[in-house]
Amino acid sequence: MKNILIPLLLLACLFSCKMEDKTQREKPLVVATTSILADGVKNILGDKADVKALMPAGVDPHLYKASVRDLDLLQEADIVIYHGLFLEGKMTEIFEKLSYSQNLINAAEDLPQSLLLRSGPEAHSVDPHIWFDVKLWSKALSHTSEELIRWKPDWEKEIRENTEIYLEKLQALDLEIQLKVDQLKSTNQALITAHDAFAYFGKSYNLEVKGLQGLSTLSEPGLRDLTGLIQFIVDRNIHAVFAEQTISPKAIEAVVAGCANQNHNIIMAGPLFTDSLDAPDTPAGTYIGMVNTNLQTIFKSLNP
Ligand SMILES: [Zn+2]
Repeated sequence: MKNILIPLLLLACLFSCKMEDKTQREKPLVVATTSILADGVKNILGDKADVKALMPAGVDPHLYKASVRDLDLLQEADIVIYHGLFLEGKMTEIFEKLSYSQNLINAAEDLPQSLLLRSGPEAHSVDPHIWFDVKLWSKALSHTSEELIRWKPDWEKEIRENTEIYLEKLQALDLEIQLKVDQLKSTNQALITAHDAFAYFGKSYNLEVKGLQGLSTLSEPGLRDLTGLIQFIVDRNIHAVFAEQTISPKAIEAVVAGCANQNHNIIMAGPLFTDSLDAPDTPAGTYIGMVNTNLQTIFKSLNP
């Protein structure tokens, strides 16, 4: 009897402790799915809440599957913020189920369709990498900020002040990118990366971009794509191609080898930080830091 009772008591205690945690927290717990989104939310909320990223730095959000511990965290949070646009490709059902019992914000929900890029007519063929156009990312964060005010009306003043300060920083970042890209364009270079993450960057700042894989890393690069891409690099005298932090460099290494076979030597630069920040307290550990780090890497490698 004693043997059965102890685990039962432990379980009951664990459950009640968990419940107490939620109501007795010093600050509300806000969970954002990606490290990029969590950084934006931290800037909006300041010290009002504890903001946690569900996915650790360096993780590919297209392929990410929530663990049992993640599901607990999503339920224990006071509010959950996700990117949307099918970026969290394997978590769509989880958000649907969670919407019945949890406060949820879809950061990209309010973006006008006319500003979104697509690879086809299906809903999931929308390009989710909106953070590479700083203006578009600012819109998504403005929406998130408004939704957070609806959730905590008492925090309105602080949230509005924080959001305004952060959006001003993003505006300066946007101008800086445009200046650098304008310099690059005179060299006739294009940005070639492991997957199609930079379409918004290319469109917004007017730079030619190509990805070896499609919008999601779920797709495989084809042989025809590879041959065409190598020819493009040789014809245009491109200096570098870029690996990405969340993706195996194998396919991009094949491009470098293919170019060498045609006596055109290029460097494999990067890795660029595309779908995740670098570890906290590193230069690319914040969104602004990540964009600046990428910009330096791109500029240095294509304009040697
Ligand atoms: Zn991606």
